[in-house]
Amino acid sequence: MNTQNLIGGEWITPNGEQMTIQNPSDVTLDVGVVHFSRDTDVLQAGEAAKQALANWAAMTPGARGNILYRIATMLEEQLEDVAHISSMEMGKPISEMKGEVMRGVHLLRYYAAEGVRATGSVIPASQEHVLQYTKRVPLGVVGIITPWNFPIAIPIWKIAPALINGNTIVWKPAEIASLSATRLTRIFVDAGLPAGVLNLVVGRGSIIGNALLEKVHLDGVSFTGSTATGMHVASLAAKRNIKYQTEMGGKNAAVVLKDADLQLTVQAVLSGAFRSAGQKCTATSRVIVEKSIYNQFIDALRKEMALMHISSALDPKSYLGPVASAFQHEKVMHYVDMARTNTEIVTEGKLQIEASSGHYVTPLVVSGVTVDDPLVQEEIFGPLMVLLPADNFDEALELCNRTVYGLSASIFTNDIQKGLRFLDEAQVGMVRVNQETAGVEYQSPFGGMKMSSSHTREQGQAALDFYSQTKTCAVYYG
Ligand code: NAD
Repeated sequence: MNTQNLIGGEWITPNGEQMTIQNPSDVTLDVGVVHFSRDTDVLQAGEAAKQALANWAAMTPGARGNILYRIATMLEEQLEDVAHISSMEMGKPISEMKGEVMRGVHLLRYYAAEGVRATGSVIPASQEHVLQYTKRVPLGVVGIITPWNFPIAIPIWKIAPALINGNTIVWKPAEIASLSATRLTRIFVDAGLPAGVLNLVVGRGSIIGNALLEKVHLDGVSFTGSTATGMHVASLAAKRNIKYQTEMGGKNAAVVLKDADLQLTVQAVLSGAFRSAGQKCTATSRVIVEKSIYNQFIDALRKEMALMHISSALDPKSYLGPVASAFQHEKVMHYVDMARTNTEIVTEGKLQIEASSGHYVTPLVVSGVTVDDPLVQEEIFGPLMVLLPADNFDEALELCNRTVYGLSASIFTNDIQKGLRFLDEAQVGMVRVNQETAGVEYQSPFGGMKMSSSHTREQGQAALDFYSQTKTCAVYYG
């Protein structure tokens, strides 16, 4: 498979730099070729989106919704193939990947239905015989920049609400999710999305990102990725005074109190930490355990970890597979080496496959680190979990909040007062009691606090607000 750009309804293969994607589960297998774009491609995509805007925005939202329903149906029909390509491209276990594609289907249907829902309210006017009401209008052309760790769901949770609101799009997916992006975009075209409404530009963010953000006539930009890139995107958007949202990194904590149901807790903590090889922005990477059950918790963790199946992403039994790329492997191994040198290894998983056959990282649980250690403070984005003991709830809460990030956090307890206090006081955008830190619901708002977000929210009704602006209208009929 090869990537292609979709610009103004035409499939185009840029003739510049290319990169072969090797299957992270088995690096002897080539999955496809990524063709990188240049600035001129991005500018053409911006022009196409601008030209398509008036007609798309003028369609009734119901008619736009019907197209989204068709895309959802086609994506559901092609779920197996789409999931297979993504699994091979970025190494997410196939069982999880199928769930992710289905999430995309649900998101499309959720936003399709918005085509026939109210988009404003009638507000009493201070003068007689005046009809005053609000309505939502599109932003215009929006730039969408996505990461590789949810190659289907994240693009759809941005594209679907943008489309139902009447915006047109220039989408730049992550380099190592571009085969998935091309495959997904084909479905949008086949389902009858008019030319120019969605434009796909495959390329290196460091090369074409600035052209997209500085030269294309964008009216808004939605970004998900690392905090460093997100801050750059935000500064360029602020310079142009366009609406932006940046959803960025995390360093999420699970707090385990002495009265927690240990079996439920261990399963939720391991799932949060190691599913997708720890490459979820909401992954559990710090586990703060009340000292009185610390040893008991470790015993339970060791037992459960011994059962973990770690193998190729296409193995339906895989709990976790490889990390996504050689670059990601190198980055995570830097932290693994640091952990093996400077910490106590509490337990580790056992690979059911030859480590050197792909970008595999053995999942690791470590302890004996200070709270300011890079392993406790930096986003690792791999299967490495740090245990921190705490004297009591108050210390656990303090440790949980001791990070620049604020994406998600969980507490495991049967004490309702402590659970409710945690919901109040944890400084994160998504906070849970007796549930893992990872996993979001498409119908709920999602986003972070502190350095994890531009303090905007995605998904649910929040996305409709982001991809629109509100007009207050008044008509005198006296
Ligand atoms: P990244 O920041 O390296 O890249 C994200 C996207 O930005 C890619 O498409 C990339 O090509 C593009 N990009 C890079 N440089 C750019 C530039 N100068 N201008 C414009 N675009 C540019 O992130 P990644 O490695 O793809 O993803 C992993 C990160 O994403 C992690 O930090 C993770 O926490 C975060 N993430 C956050 C959420 C969330 O909702 N908060 C969800 C998923 C992932």
